[in-house]
Amino acid sequence: MAIATINPATGETLKTYEPLTDEALEDRIARAAQAFARYRLTTPQQRAGWLTAAADVLDADTDGVAELMTTEMGKTLASAKAEVGKCAKALRWYAEHGPALLEPEPKDAAAVGAEQAYVVHQPLGVVLAIMPWNFPLWQAMRFAAPALMAGNVGLLKHASNVPQTALYLEEIFRKAGFPDDVFQTLLIGSGTIEQVLRDDRVAAATLTGSAPAGQSVASIAGDALKPTVLELGGSDPFIVMPSAHLDRAAEVAVTARNQNNGQSCIAAKRFFVHRDVAEEFTRLFAEKIGALTVGDPMDEGTQIGPLATESGRDDVEEYVEDAVAKGAQVLVGGKRVDRPGWFFEPTLLSGITPEMDLYLEEVFGPVAAMWTVDSLEEAIEIANSHPYGLGSNLWSEDADERARFIRDIASGMAFVNGMTTSYPDLPFGGVKQSGYGRELTGLGMREFTNAKTVWIG
Ligand code: NAP
Repeated sequence: MAIATINPATGETLKTYEPLTDEALEDRIARAAQAFARYRLTTPQQRAGWLTAAADVLDADTDGVAELMTTEMGKTLASAKAEVGKCAKALRWYAEHGPALLEPEPKDAAAVGAEQAYVVHQPLGVVLAIMPWNFPLWQAMRFAAPALMAGNVGLLKHASNVPQTALYLEEIFRKAGFPDDVFQTLLIGSGTIEQVLRDDRVAAATLTGSAPAGQSVASIAGDALKPTVLELGGSDPFIVMPSAHLDRAAEVAVTARNQNNGQSCIAAKRFFVHRDVAEEFTRLFAEKIGALTVGDPMDEGTQIGPLATESGRDDVEEYVEDAVAKGAQVLVGGKRVDRPGWFFEPTLLSGITPEMDLYLEEVFGPVAAMWTVDSLEEAIEIANSHPYGLGSNLWSEDADERARFIRDIASGMAFVNGMTTSYPDLPFGGVKQSGYGRELTGLGMREFTNAKTVWIG
């Protein structure tokens, strides 16, 4: 894939970049390693100060960087601004909580025959972050804020279609006054990742992206015995039971499916509605999807912009055509929009069967697939038959149903009467083919630390 900014709202190529040469790449890795040797000796309080300064940089740059993201990947300008704010918040969260989370943990010295026993959390070193385009600032920041707080150094290989946002990420940390080379962007194609990952100066890796990319990185890292965190795809279930507040559930369902033009890993993608309320919920859901405004993502009134890439739009179209050919009913939308750029209509499909390709895949666009079920157990059984297990959603006022859902759903996150969202205060991650490891909170920060046991006799 060429490293280029192509405006998905018009299809116009705005800027292309040459990938780093081997010499330039070697220079950057060497600088990262040298930066780590110094940066690991800084105090958590110093790092907290730099993180706060980075949040201030983002606040000041909000409008410019939001426009950049909208231009590169098509999210609405309003959602791009919200993403910048979310990144600043995460930086401040780690600045506030990081130092305490990195304090040594005292252990019972007498129980192990020592004078002192404790655990210290030390940084691992240079961490390679391979990131996707869908939340181009947030995905990278979700890694960078805790990793830099813990004393690690970051090398970012961002998606090839967001090079300017990738370069801006490096700039944030420079402008914030972090020591040189603590966070560098590598403009490289995915074919060069193996070379970086196998480099002895690189200690660990994190990848947010598709399952095939995760498999590739995990197998190389496994061979090189390096730890990884993988945040992969999702096809989150959204279950609506008879006791749910239907209008609210339908409203949130529309946002949960169509946020970010339908391109979110934690978007609700499969909707399971109890037969007793199926007719009413379907009417509300279809009405609200049909009312969404599709258009130029720079316009204030636009709710749905284009898909980020032409191939992404073609994939979505193929899933819908395949489902329709195999008997699915189109209740709303169902086709590409007749205008320049890579737009697809917000779509609602019912009558989903296992023969359809979308049954076991992830549709990365504004397409909701709906099932009518007779019980919570049936919904959970179909939901759990999917290879992914990222987030999940239940709408119910019944305490017993909620308890069964939380106990039985195979997912990393279970949200009741709300949509799956990420917060610095809650761990984020999945099970099964949605990946492993956690981001955010103290758990996320400790993924890239060495919990060193200290015993002093
Ligand atoms: P992708 O193709 O896997 O790309 C993600 C990143 O991996 C990019 O930097 C890409 O580089 C790189 N990459 C691609 N193929 C690779 C390979 N074989 N080996 C190593 N790296 C490789 O993913 P996408 O289609 O852009 O993003 C959408 C996917 O990401 C969806 O499945 C979505 O659910 C998932 N996602 C997950 C989360 C989460 O937190 N769980 C969050 C957001 C998105 P190039 O751009 O140069 O190809």
